[in-house]
Amino acid sequence: MYRHLEIKGWDAKKMKNTKVVVGGAGAIGSQVSMMLARIGIGRLIVIDHDILEEHNTANQLYTSEDIGMRKVDALREILKDFDAEYIGISDKVQNVDWESIDADIILGCFDNIGARFFLNMIAVTHRKPYIDAGIESFRGQVWTVIPGKTPCLQCWSDMFPKVKPKAGCSSVESAPSTFFTASYAAALQAMQVVKIVLGKPVEPFIGFNLKSGITMPMKLKRNEKCELCGGIR
Ligand SMILES: [Zn+2]
Repeated sequence: MYRHLEIKGWDAKKMKNTKVVVGGAGAIGSQVSMMLARIGIGRLIVIDHDILEEHNTANQLYTSEDIGMRKVDALREILKDFDAEYIGISDKVQNVDWESIDADIILGCFDNIGARFFLNMIAVTHRKPYIDAGIESFRGQVWTVIPGKTPCLQCWSDMFPKVKPKAGCSSVESAPSTFFTASYAAALQAMQVVKIVLGKPVEPFIGFNLKSGITMPMKLKRNEKCELCGGIR
């Protein structure tokens, strides 16, 4: 069993009582799952339908021994020594029975924009915080949706390339990212989880560019005309 850090203002009990859905067990999802397990989050529900391929080991948490395994199973092996209860669902997020999922916070870690917009919709519909991460080469952004308080992805869908809301898959191919770009996005995402659990204010949008060293939180306003969250107070 791992010892968790003791930091001023930390609340291990709150962490343990928190259930997080991680959508995607790829570059960002595998790393943020590890981070959340290490800080003592009580339950991780990881959803990904992919099988691990050789090229995935370049920027994901896995090793060559995991090739051919379902990503959710490979990640279970990696996290087996942590206290976190682990539930791996090897399916597309669109096929999951969301009524049966008991979660406090939902994370979107897919490179598939359609899947991320689907999770945004699920989170807003269920009034759960949604933390979305996207990366491309050395850049990325983390978007934190608190339904009724901060903008959802749908509010400013123009910021995403060729978004097809609720679509099963996206035709947008993202440029490959490095392991550490994913680590950085995962760390920003994990920090937002911590803030939500501890009841601290969150940044609605954080953009970063590792090449220039810039990390920039942005004050993003809600779109009152948003079809998804516009009516929520
Ligand atoms: Zn919205």
